[in-house]
Amino acid sequence: MTAIGAFKNTGKESLRDVLTRLDKEGAALGHFNVADQTLLRAVVAAGAETELPVIVGASEGEREFFGARQLAALVKSERQESDVPIFLNADHTHSLAKAIEAAKAGFDSVVIDFSALPFEQNVACTKEAVQAIKAINPAILAEGEIGNIGTGSEIHETAQGDPKTLTTPEEARQFVEATGIDILAPAVGNMHGMLQSMVQGKAKKHLDIERIAQIKQAAGVFLTLHGGSGTDDEHFRKAIAAGINIIHINTELRVAWRQSLAESLARDPNEVVPYKILQPVVDAVKQVVSSRLRLFHGEPAGAGAVGSVA
Ligand SMILES: [Zn+2]
Repeated sequence: MTAIGAFKNTGKESLRDVLTRLDKEGAALGHFNVADQTLLRAVVAAGAETELPVIVGASEGEREFFGARQLAALVKSERQESDVPIFLNADHTHSLAKAIEAAKAGFDSVVIDFSALPFEQNVACTKEAVQAIKAINPAILAEGEIGNIGTGSEIHETAQGDPKTLTTPEEARQFVEATGIDILAPAVGNMHGMLQSMVQGKAKKHLDIERIAQIKQAAGVFLTLHGGSGTDDEHFRKAIAAGINIIHINTELRVAWRQSLAESLARDPNEVVPYKILQPVVDAVKQVVSSRLRLFHGEPAGAGAVGSVA
């Protein structure tokens, strides 16, 4: 369990340093996706409020909208002024060209995602991308993915993913060995997006904790849990204890973003000042991020999570 306030940003801690430390302490690093500066401000503010390090994430679509190099420049600038380390991850990258682009832009890590391909092809494409990004920056962390956890951090009508494609410990071991990845994203009951019932707090995702522990043992690398939005709090705690090092939250932020934006716009139809309309959105998203960060570091989560009925 991490003592809140124990992280100081000297500008020198690498992502690997922070992950190694948290792994020993039984805490996980929170990863939050951003598509614009409103979301980025919310994530950075939550890191400052909780005094905990954060990973800012951007998928290919989010990078397209924000600009990969522009986002990297903003995060670098935020980190220079931050009391806690802030890292930047290129989430779900489906091509060698996009992985290289992110590495060149200065991202701290890249999620190389060829999980839709058959295992052997996934291994070959992932290995090629790992070597390419490490040739650009030897300190960059490469994440690889196996199994099916659905796509799209959105509100889905029906459940994503396929229980038949959960990652096995043996697959995990082979994949890590063959590709040279630093971080593995397994399928362990997690899935991207949320069902409407989860947004309303009536249903929660449940994880295969035993499988996580076995995969950690077999793989021997850091583990990321994708699609964390809407997961039962107790399952998060157990998953971290079983070996999860990074947890991705995206849909919960998007839900908070949209709901608070709608409220803010409805409050005064004559308001046209962007920062007056958007500040409540930053605050609402920040509350979700802070709540998740506290939970991942063993603190009471408090109010604020989407779908939290408390
Ligand atoms: Zn993901």
